Amino acid sequence: NVNGTPLDGVACRHNRLAIHKDQRRLVPEDVWVHFQKTYGISTYFSHSDEICLKCKRDYDGERHKVNRKRQMRLSEKQRHKDNVYFIPRNKSTKTTFIMVGSGWLYRWRRYVDHPGASEPGMMDTDSLWCEHGALAHSPDPFHPIYKELRFSPDVGLIPEQDYLALMRQHGALKHKGVLKVTLKRHPDCHRFSTKQRYEYTLPAPICEGCMQIRQNQRHERLLNFENEPIYISRVKDYLASGMYYDAREVKYQCSNYCTIGELRLVILQYWGISPYSQQLHYRDSILPNDGDLTLRQCGIIANTRIEFQEVVG
Ligand SMILES: [Zn+2]
Ligand SMILES: [Zn+2]
Repeated sequence: NVNGTPLDGVACRHNRLAIHKDQRRLVPEDVWVHFQKTYGISTYFSHSDEICLKCKRDYDGERHKVNRKRQMRLSEKQRHKDNVYFIPRNKSTKTTFIMVGSGWLYRWRRYVDHPGASEPGMMDTDSLWCEHGALAHSPDPFHPIYKELRFSPDVGLIPEQDYLALMRQHGALKHKGVLKVTLKRHPDCHRFSTKQRYEYTLPAPICEGCMQIRQNQRHERLLNFENEPIYISRVKDYLASGMYYDAREVKYQCSNYCTIGELRLVILQYWGISPYSQQLHYRDSILPNDGDLTLRQCGIIANTRIEFQEVVG
């Protein structure tokens, strides 16, 4: 090291012996005398010197803080992880739930599951209201707007008990009040059904207009993608027992301006089927034959699947 001296990593900023051992080596005294002359330094340390107490105190304090944070994170995970989920996990419909944004839920789950993740920040209830004083989101996965766009709700419901504990921990923006929700099993839904459906008693009506706008914006964000996968697979036959898939699938990295024609060429390349004999399906509908249409124009979003069938051209 041209600019360094033999004391780099050995002396601390208080000019005492640094606490980490890995940067220092013992050298014989005559070698050291040579170093002192060469680099013009007067300080030296011997093997019997104590490490810097100020540095040690700082270091222990820092380690204590890290340990305490880790403990808090783990106890938070243990106490709440089973209840804090995007859909109500607590089976009892007698529980009062609190509505929170799904962005916060994602951040919280990442925080408790990944040691390096940052804290989720404050829960933000205020942003769940629209400008007309109504709710801008529905917690119901069966809401027709979610159904149409194949979205899961962008708000989650967590039991009030868990909410109160997490609010003490992380804080909340709730000038417009806490959004309490109660549930009742939907009359069409059997209590042992795997997909539970509920009726929701909400603290305010849902503004359908604002909800439509926000979900369209969400959809719009998904329609714009760059270098993300689209999966292509072949539906070989429709059997009485259901669909039969060709085991092969192609994971094709592309962007929203990739064309249908480009996908047809990928199919030709992998399956050897002429573009004229391909019928492409996306989410229950047949894609148009026009090869110049882009994925965006066809409403195709990243990480979804396009299926094709060989038809007589
Ligand atoms: Zn020091
Ligand atoms: Zn509104």
